[in-house]
Amino acid sequence: MRLRDLGEFGLLGSLGLFGRELAPGWVGPGDDAAVLPAPGRPLLLTTDQLVEDVHFRRRTTSAWDLGYKCVAANASDVAAMGGRPLAFTLCLAAPGDLPVEWVTELFAGLDEGARSLGCSLVGGDTSSAPVVVLSVALLGVAPAAGPVLRSGARPGDDLYVSGNPGESALGLRLLEAGADLGEERLQALVSRHLRPEPRLALAAALGDAGLATSLIDVSDGLLQDLGHVLRASGVGAELWVERLPVSSSLTEVSQTLGAVPLHLVLAGGEDYELLFTAPPERRGAVFGAAREACTPLRRIGRVFGEPGLRLTQRGEAVPLPGALGFDHFPAGS
Ligand code: ADP
Ligand code: MG
Repeated sequence: MRLRDLGEFGLLGSLGLFGRELAPGWVGPGDDAAVLPAPGRPLLLTTDQLVEDVHFRRRTTSAWDLGYKCVAANASDVAAMGGRPLAFTLCLAAPGDLPVEWVTELFAGLDEGARSLGCSLVGGDTSSAPVVVLSVALLGVAPAAGPVLRSGARPGDDLYVSGNPGESALGLRLLEAGADLGEERLQALVSRHLRPEPRLALAAALGDAGLATSLIDVSDGLLQDLGHVLRASGVGAELWVERLPVSSSLTEVSQTLGAVPLHLVLAGGEDYELLFTAPPERRGAVFGAAREACTPLRRIGRVFGEPGLRLTQRGEAVPLPGALGFDHFPAGS
């Protein structure tokens, strides 16, 4: 059997990583970041890698953007626990013929990511490899009310998403199509892909006040990441298509590329938006936190006890799109 026969999540499941018992207070594989008890607030630890020709192409992504993005992606996983990023390490592997200027640019982007997201580069490792591989491990601090796990959604909770999921995937399509990026709105879409802004302020506000019952960042597509929350919580949900945030630029530009706006919103990747649940009696406080964090927020559905995900449009059932998100070892590849 090969990895592609199992798929990314099948592989992780078959390794038995997610069911392992850890000491009380610890959270291991299966959430956005691990939780490590520490004197004072628990620490959060997450790692992510960016591999050339899998996650990025040197032709379409600058070294600066990549440096920025690998800090942002990791900081987003700490935000997905309601926490704040603190420090990170970078392991860099690269072919010997890579221009030194490329690496200098990479570190300039990394430094800007660290500065704007409030964390510091504190170490790493360097090696040669046939393609560029960047691995960041980032340490963060849990929020005052404790880390927000994927497993806390309860029947009756409201379901929310921040920002405009789908725009990053559309920005990537524009880059890959080699589109002329003269128009400002096209540049904005591309920058949503190249320079994502993790929702740190909203995450900390939700976490500190204990508002969210479950929380995840949307990295693999809204439907797929919602599926992780529902499975971890042992619940189901109804998602209201008419409430999804679909910007006019997403609708118009996706049509010029022959893409379906709703599919981008539901299954586009690398949005780094927050998807979370909260009890209906905290609705006012949730929108108050979003206003204070200057973060657009939509209430897009409701949690039910009955497992499964149902998509509705004005009360009528809508079929789920086939491709729900990104898999690193898709069947048939
Ligand atoms: P995210 O999209 O939030 O970064 P991933 O989909 O990459 O999360 O990973 C899901 C979970 O699986 C995380 O808790 C991660 O720590 C765990 N995981 C993924 N790959 C491995 C691995 N090789 N060894 C241990 N845990 C892993
Ligand atoms: Mg995540």
